[in-house]
Amino acid sequence: MHNALAAYKTQSDTLMNFPIIIVRHLPASGMALFPFILLNHQKLKADARIMNHEKIHLRQQLELLIFPFYILYLINYLFNRFKYKNHHEAYLNIVFEKEAYLMDYNLNYLDKRKFWNWVRYLKVKQ
Ligand SMILES: [Zn+2]
Repeated sequence: MHNALAAYKTQSDTLMNFPIIIVRHLPASGMALFPFILLNHQKLKADARIMNHEKIHLRQQLELLIFPFYILYLINYLFNRFKYKNHHEAYLNIVFEKEAYLMDYNLNYLDKRKFWNWVRYLKVKQ
């Protein structure tokens, strides 16, 4: 178990360099679409916090076996949209965004993060 987890962490963050694609008209600074990180400007590659934010999303996507992540993300957004009646608040309170926004400043976060740690953010309100 420990070896498997270590291999998974090493492969996802350290050895593997996620391909970065610059998309000028991206409706956000960054976006994670496993295994890609999309950025709306080349200079953001040097922004450690944005890169970490997107890598947190890639980890969330990987541990949900990719596709279910997008379904849960969308369902969570629609639920929040109904609850908050506001796009921005609905977006910030998607559980995956809560984890990413609250932890992206911590550049070592992914080294110590537990599997499915986003679940802990279900109760946090942004
Ligand atoms: Zn995000």
